[in-house]
Amino acid sequence: MKELRPVLPGATVGVLGSGQLGRMFAIAARRMGYRVHTLSPDYDTPTGQIADVEVTASYDDLDAVREFARQVDVVTFEFENVPAAAVEAAARIVPVRPDGSVLHTTQHRLREKTFLAGAGFPVTAFVPVRSLAELEEALPRIGFPAVLKAATLSYDGKGQSRIDDASQAPAAWRAVGQRDAILEKFVRFEKEASVIVARSRDGDLADFGLISNTHDRHILDFSSADGSAGGPVAREAVALARGVAEAIRVVGVLCVEMFVGPGGEIRINELAPRPHNSGHLTVDACVTSQFEQQLRAVCGLELGATDYLRPAAMANILGDLWSDGEPDWAAVCALPDVKLHLYGKSEARPRRKMGHLTALADSSTEALRRVLAARETLTARVRAV
Ligand code: AMP
Repeated sequence: MKELRPVLPGATVGVLGSGQLGRMFAIAARRMGYRVHTLSPDYDTPTGQIADVEVTASYDDLDAVREFARQVDVVTFEFENVPAAAVEAAARIVPVRPDGSVLHTTQHRLREKTFLAGAGFPVTAFVPVRSLAELEEALPRIGFPAVLKAATLSYDGKGQSRIDDASQAPAAWRAVGQRDAILEKFVRFEKEASVIVARSRDGDLADFGLISNTHDRHILDFSSADGSAGGPVAREAVALARGVAEAIRVVGVLCVEMFVGPGGEIRINELAPRPHNSGHLTVDACVTSQFEQQLRAVCGLELGATDYLRPAAMANILGDLWSDGEPDWAAVCALPDVKLHLYGKSEARPRRKMGHLTALADSSTEALRRVLAARETLTARVRAV
């Protein structure tokens, strides 16, 4: 296997996966003079449009994965559901960061929560569930409401079902696909938040502070942050996230998603061993974005400064905005302090992440007001007709 000396600008980075996270990673990498190759089953992808080389192959095509690995100096990924066999095949040829053990833990909800609980991090009560009988037996122990989630391949609310009383158990079991699942106690949170932290090969840590998140139908709707050390909740959230990054020994970027209760108590919901939607505002707001930070970490460089240049807010643009025709790009581009990011996806489907907007202001509250007003302008023309 090639040694991981620092992989310096001019070298080639391989990305498994080809969505918007890979796209923004590739933009950061190309800006710094790296070449980027991407592999996924798709063609003309958000990442492939930016990369030097786009390989279209199934992740199960290990010959293609090996050939891909031979062409690059280091491999990373942009989503954690890359099959373990593909990561192992690549890792025999070239360093893969984060490594397979981090993927193994984070691509399975039960392993992830068991790891977190075992390491002493606060999570909501949970039990494994492998059959309807086990679900019915577990529900009285967990109590109502409860949330049933498929253990694998469930995100943005897919493969997830809330259970308010015992009669809903069979429907919930069907809704998650009758497969290995985790039953969780429903958390009555006051807000959702995330902390994105990077860890270098040498074990250095850098975080982007507490990011406040609001979801709509389980999908992130908007986020805001100002990077201030904040009060005790922000300090505890950051300390927890840094602790998790150390415990799981990630080399790369890790997003720790959390619930904050009415009394400020924190429960970790889930981990993503990669840049995260809630960190998109770091592209415009921070000295180093989460994508450049991932690049630095996986290439064995020093981490960049994470200071906020200004408070910021981000609002997602979902495919639903296309329901009455093409959004009014001219209107949003006319706003001098709002940044438009589109991911190059040709087909706008409801709930599909197509892009986002970022606004900067003197406070995160004002940035949020501006970014939400900006998103309104995207559909105002349609309504005015
Ligand atoms: P997840 O796929 O685990 O990120 O969940 C998506 C969203 O569902 C979260 O951001 C929460 O809004 C909600 N959710 C997930 N798990 C729970 C829980 N145990 N209690 C309350 N809400 C939850």
